[in-house]
Amino acid sequence: MIDLRSDTVTLPTNEMKKFIINSPLGDDVYGEDPSVNLLQKKIAKIFNKEAALFVPSGTMANLISVLTHCSRGDEVILGDKSHIFYYEAGGISAFGGIHSHQLKNDDDGTIKINDIENSIRDVGNDHFPQTKLICLENTHNACYGSAIDSDYFSDVKEVANKNNLSIHLDGARIFNAAIKLNKSVDELTKDCDTISCCLSKGLSAPVGSVILGSKNFILKAKHIRKALGGGMRQAGLIASAGIFSLDNMINRLEDDHKNATILAKQLSDIKNIKININQVHTNIIFIYNRHQNISDTKLLSKLEKENIKIDYKGNSKFRLVTHSGFKKSDIESVVKVFKEILKDK
Ligand SMILES: *Cc1c(COP(=O)(O)O)cnc(C)c1O
Repeated sequence: MIDLRSDTVTLPTNEMKKFIINSPLGDDVYGEDPSVNLLQKKIAKIFNKEAALFVPSGTMANLISVLTHCSRGDEVILGDKSHIFYYEAGGISAFGGIHSHQLKNDDDGTIKINDIENSIRDVGNDHFPQTKLICLENTHNACYGSAIDSDYFSDVKEVANKNNLSIHLDGARIFNAAIKLNKSVDELTKDCDTISCCLSKGLSAPVGSVILGSKNFILKAKHIRKALGGGMRQAGLIASAGIFSLDNMINRLEDDHKNATILAKQLSDIKNIKININQVHTNIIFIYNRHQNISDTKLLSKLEKENIKIDYKGNSKFRLVTHSGFKKSDIESVVKVFKEILKDK
């Protein structure tokens, strides 16, 4: 099976499994799991933040972060294509009573600075919720996996500072952004107060995300993690996979980006696929089915019959994501299958 639905489908390598088995464990709710502690220390250092917190998922990392920044009735500024708004079951509203102010995401994943400035509420007017937080995303999943450079964050930071707001970055794929822009993650995220980062995507750990921020923030976040049921006992068993990922899986993301570029280029030569290869930035490719007689569902089922899975977004749009389980040699077979299925009949 060639599974291109997401980089979440990555499986731990044999070396990773060996590393996991040999990792020291303890009860992390007591703060006594050496592997969790090592992971948190290690990743805090990489991001040059005071502290880190290991959590079960990226969704919980974002939820805890927003709940830590905001109180009930506060307002968060975020993009209308952001993962937090679109794909996290409305958690910040459901569990935090937090109001979201959705602003247009441009194709490059940014929100116009002007739009952000204009949406910040006047303080002291009873009509308004209080703006507390700006949430950004890098790389931006739904915006073609685009990597956003640090100057944009400096501009947002200026606005945030002027208005006493914090910035949270959904950095599920921040290492992809760093590789793409040839910058360190700490340089890329220096203007963000807090960051969430997935270990279970391109970094190929089976489970886990982290939140990064100040010592105080992480202390409060840890309390909320417990309330949400995210306090895990011998969590070193999964945290150690994250340690392995940080040591071994970051630089190889470059391969995923290269494979995505090659795959996109070759798919773009197929007549009934529409694809903008200028909008392939990292490991995420969006394609459109333009075949007159092959419906989207038919395309999906035909692909599955050939042992290929891709992600359907509706309205003839599909997403393909490259990852460590997808080899360069898989490109040829995928292109061949697409060509056969989508040829004019
Ligand atoms: C995957 C993803 C998340 C959520 O991570 P899960 O571990 O699947 O909950 C958050 N933000 C972005 C941008 C993502 O791509």
